[in-house]
Amino acid sequence: MARLKAADRAARHEVSCCACGGGPDGCVKPPPAFLAPDVAAERLRCRNCPRIMSLGCARLVIRPRMGWQCPQHHCRSCNRTASEAGGLMFRCVDCPIAFCAECNGEAPFDAVESNPEWEDMGFYLPKSFEYVRCTDCYKVRLEREAEEKEKAEAERAEAAAAAAAAAVKAAAAAAAAAAAKGKSKRKGGAGKADAGKAAPASSSRGANKKRHR
Ligand SMILES: [Zn+2]
Ligand SMILES: [Zn+2]
Ligand SMILES: [Zn+2]
Ligand SMILES: [Zn+2]
Repeated sequence: MARLKAADRAARHEVSCCACGGGPDGCVKPPPAFLAPDVAAERLRCRNCPRIMSLGCARLVIRPRMGWQCPQHHCRSCNRTASEAGGLMFRCVDCPIAFCAECNGEAPFDAVESNPEWEDMGFYLPKSFEYVRCTDCYKVRLEREAEEKEKAEAERAEAAAAAAAAAVKAAAAAAAAAAAKGKSKRKGGAGKADAGKAAPASSSRGANKKRHR
């Protein structure tokens, strides 16, 4: 156990299972049928990095005697280590996979400069590794960003439409008020028009009177 501790390069570990994302309350993925739920829920800590995984998600019946190593220290396709694969391995920050350049080929992935959260846990990436966002996670991220952008645009359009509708409503209300006023004006307007006809006469008479004075 002491030897295991000495080999443990990360001072602290993550809280969520790196396979399914399940938090301290348990895994999201149902445990395999061959494991009792309480055994499946046991967490394995990677001896080389902050990753943790449940026994169930790792599909292991018992804890490995020499400690457990997460899947991010070997290429997921060829299973080689970084030194076996030309001295460079890419490890995804969003999922528990690592891959070598040869196996990745031309598939696009996102470079990730650093992982400050893991540095806070006392983990520093060996020189032969680079943090990335793998092709799948990169796609997911792009899709999420596009979705968020679309949502923001839809919200903006909705707000603009609501504002326009409110303006139309206000204009209609104003028009209705004006029409109502106009109706009453027209009603009284008939009388006023008559009065208006009479008024100029009287006013001109008044003006004449003024002029005569
Ligand atoms: Zn899990
Ligand atoms: Zn690991
Ligand atoms: Zn490979
Ligand atoms: Zn990934």
